[in-house]
Amino acid sequence: MYYFDNAATTKVLKEAADEARDCMLNLYGNPSSLHKLGLEAENKMTASRKTIANVFGCKEKEIIFTSGATESTNIALFGAANKGKRKGNKIITTEIEHASVKHCIDELENMGFCIVRVKSKDGRYYADDIIDAVDENTILVSVMHVNNENGLILPVEKIATGVKNKNNNVIVHVDGVQSFCKLPIDLSKSKIDLMSVSGHKINAPKGIGALYIREGVKIPPHSFGGDHEHGIRPGTESLPLIAAFAAAAKINMTNIQKSINHYKNLKSHILSRIKDNDEIKLNSKENSVPYIVNISIEGIGSEIMLHFLESKEFCVSSGSACSKSKKSGVLPHMGYSRERELTAIRISFSMENSKEQLDMLIDAILQGQKNIMKK
Ligand code: PLP
Repeated sequence: MYYFDNAATTKVLKEAADEARDCMLNLYGNPSSLHKLGLEAENKMTASRKTIANVFGCKEKEIIFTSGATESTNIALFGAANKGKRKGNKIITTEIEHASVKHCIDELENMGFCIVRVKSKDGRYYADDIIDAVDENTILVSVMHVNNENGLILPVEKIATGVKNKNNNVIVHVDGVQSFCKLPIDLSKSKIDLMSVSGHKINAPKGIGALYIREGVKIPPHSFGGDHEHGIRPGTESLPLIAAFAAAAKINMTNIQKSINHYKNLKSHILSRIKDNDEIKLNSKENSVPYIVNISIEGIGSEIMLHFLESKEFCVSSGSACSKSKKSGVLPHMGYSRERELTAIRISFSMENSKEQLDMLIDAILQGQKNIMKK
């Protein structure tokens, strides 16, 4: 199969798998144990934390390991809401958040918090629209850095700075899943308080993620147990997954510029091949990452095209992996028609994808466009 669904999940790098295996077979002590095996495990965990902290440009103690971004986000959002509830009850977000944020926010709304879901303008989200919504009563802002369906980049740094200037008590959370290790970030210079990231989008195994919590920001835990991860995420840490996460992050960061260039070449290639095709429309605007390209093929439902491509050995996605066959409504929120959403497919790259593979994928899409009976 040719895999073009890297925004859904990625193949684990051999180096990451080797790290996990080594930890399972050799470094199997509990990092909290006082004996030699425990200490060795703890050292490995400290080194891994340092690697992840380096990606963020933050301190090691600002990183807690979780089971993935969904857990990080739950800790962040419920923690921040709980902490802030005596000061106010307004929470600001966008309409295009991933289910892991959206459903936390929906639950907070059920609990009585007042939610403002900022709307897009010309398919974009402007920092000023989010900052304008902040008032005395606001306790939390949560925005994604890169949208998982069409790769739109949101101005998270600008948002965090503006929000804090207006009301320094607001906690700013960023869903950094689709940008982590793909776009450079330096949290030491940023006003962002919390950031959720995931291992399986960067060639680490599933079941590992991290939450950045800026020094000085105190949020109450969401679950209770031992004092692992400062008591914010209790439970014995999974060293094999943590070490694999760090190994994958290190390799991705070493190659970040090379990857960006590779993805830019792939994206411009696909754009040049579809530009004269009136029935194929681009749903990823200029202000989007080069590694996610969302297109709609007029008259052909996403799932039909997806299965046609699958029969030709290509894996793409019909939108967000978490929405499966349900449509998320994200593209209409960005001003694209419902028809565009129903016919959208997402192509997302990894370093394993070559221009030749992409050409074969585009050929298959064009063949599908000719052969599949239109609605
Ligand atoms: N946020 C975004 C933007 C995502 O794309 C995803 C995964 O698809 C998540 C959050 C959830 O991450 P995880 O699978 O690690 O819980």
